[in-house]
Amino acid sequence: MADIIQLLPDHVANQIAAGEVVQRPASVVKELLENSIDAGATQIKLIVKEGGKTLIQVIDNGSGMSTTDARLSFERHSTSKIKKAQDLFHIQTKGFRGEALASIAAVSHVELKSKIENNEVGTSITVEGSKVVSQDVIVTPKGTSVSVKNLFFNIPARRNFLKSDQVEMRHVIDEFHRVALAHPDISFAMYQNGSEVFNLQVTNFRKRIVNIFGSKTNEKLVPVNESTEVLKINGFVNKPEFARKSRGQQFFFVNKRFIKSPYLHHAVVSAFEGLIHEGHFPGYFLNLEVNPESIDINIHPTKTEIKFEDEHTLYAILRSSIKHSLGQFNIAPVLDFDRNRNLETPYELKNKPTKTPNIEVDTDFNPFREESQSKHASKAFQKQSNAGWESLYVGLESKVNKETSDSDEIKFDITELKQSLFEDEIVEERKSTFQIQNKYIASTIKSGMLIINQNRAHKRILYEKFLKNFTVNENSTKELLFPIKLSLSKPDVDLLGQLKEQLESTGFEFSSFVDNGVEISGIPLGVTDSQLPEIIDQLISDFRNEVPDSNLSTIDLLAKSISKKLAIRNGQKIEQQEQEYLVNKLFACKEPNLSPTNKRVFITISKNDLDNRFM
Ligand code: ADP
Ligand code: MG
Repeated sequence: MADIIQLLPDHVANQIAAGEVVQRPASVVKELLENSIDAGATQIKLIVKEGGKTLIQVIDNGSGMSTTDARLSFERHSTSKIKKAQDLFHIQTKGFRGEALASIAAVSHVELKSKIENNEVGTSITVEGSKVVSQDVIVTPKGTSVSVKNLFFNIPARRNFLKSDQVEMRHVIDEFHRVALAHPDISFAMYQNGSEVFNLQVTNFRKRIVNIFGSKTNEKLVPVNESTEVLKINGFVNKPEFARKSRGQQFFFVNKRFIKSPYLHHAVVSAFEGLIHEGHFPGYFLNLEVNPESIDINIHPTKTEIKFEDEHTLYAILRSSIKHSLGQFNIAPVLDFDRNRNLETPYELKNKPTKTPNIEVDTDFNPFREESQSKHASKAFQKQSNAGWESLYVGLESKVNKETSDSDEIKFDITELKQSLFEDEIVEERKSTFQIQNKYIASTIKSGMLIINQNRAHKRILYEKFLKNFTVNENSTKELLFPIKLSLSKPDVDLLGQLKEQLESTGFEFSSFVDNGVEISGIPLGVTDSQLPEIIDQLISDFRNEVPDSNLSTIDLLAKSISKKLAIRNGQKIEQQEQEYLVNKLFACKEPNLSPTNKRVFITISKNDLDNRFM
């Protein structure tokens, strides 16, 4: 048989490599911005059109390239950043693989203009699908400008695979955030379809965060600083009260490079243990500095994952320094949760007579509770501390629940917890429902037993209620006496702007849109003023992941977001009457067995099942 192996032509090899490096417009943005940083730029401008599908341009004032270098930069494995394999372990630059420009040029139309300091004139090179189509001498300022047009023009399958402009734009902005956050010492500007989205001046890390995410961010930040031999940490975590169900605003930078690390993420989340609800994520902006020799960046083509030499130590240091910060800034309770954990065991409680407990608590243990509520909460705690350790968390939810009680007929005011669990148990016989672990509601039915997830049940109830409000009620707006102003980042304002009409059909009324916020003059019936900021927050993060394409899906998404935000949480003790109410309301729903996101709401255990277990 004849030999059949041949070397791939360069343009084919480049296209294959491009598959790894260039997944979507945002990947191009990342590579170009990083090249500008590596070139020592102090000012970088990003211009994006139509989600980056038609144009991505990055202009910098960095070192620039000579004519020869400019030409060479499009070759695969061409880099000025490393020379030998050993260099891989001392990397100070973002790039080093020398494949970004070659890959990008393989799948788009690229025009590069560049000039170095001491030359009078610069070079312009145009490359289309790896072919150099022109090279000219031009007059251009010092630095480099790379424009990438018609991404994936020669790979229709990839082009069709791209999401809507809005979704691609979200990814571009995410990438921009990451780079801009890692380099507050560089000024960045960003333009989208001709209008300025960001203009970030040189500043410190904290201000950069605030400039990107809006002025309200400032009060959320708790500084974290640690300096050990193996790891230096500086940055911020968000206070626990701002933890969100959706991910977002979670940033690790290792030696100024944004990385994803589920392991270190876990370290942060575990430092928040007991302070945030399960399934909520704290926001964080953390710079980690480690010895470049102790990490391997070269395990992933886009370099967002790295390997650490001693992960366990980093984990421990990270976790303890965040815990320390939360404690120092009086965010964490002064209570020793570990020591009191035995209170969880219902058995111990059963054998004890009801008496005022003598557990010592700092009655102000929860600093992010509002003043008046905190008094109630601690009173409530004293009254019902036999109910177990979890009731300590009651206060954490006071805010949400108070609001819930305004909006819905169900009342969850913690001050109304009158009896101890112990007493409850004695009179239980008469009752048709009871709560298990402050999470499930059990109820007997003819054929056996029903166990309901309280959070999902309430979500279903609220979801159907809001769906009905939005679709049936013609006039579903509550006019606000005083319009509410919310400060938001420009992209968030834009996102709401795009959805304005659809949101208005559900009862929202916007009186103005400006760069740094929106003014809302009407809200859907059933929502209260005080819930508005949280709901808008939730909406934005939900819409970011899933841009609705019709009125109907907006209504659906909105009803989901609101029910998610307002539903009673797991971990919340609820009163007998409220339990019954919840059960009744649930079974009045059209689809009681599924939550709005199609999760099971309850399970049944038949008498047979029970009998079998006692065999
Ligand atoms: P890498 O960044 O991994 O070296 P790239 O393909 O991204 O590979 O870039 C190839 C080379 O082109 C770089 O090593 C650098 O010398 C040069 N280069 C790319 N972009 C710029 C820029 N904006 N300014 C100056 N030089 C650049
Ligand atoms: Mg590069």
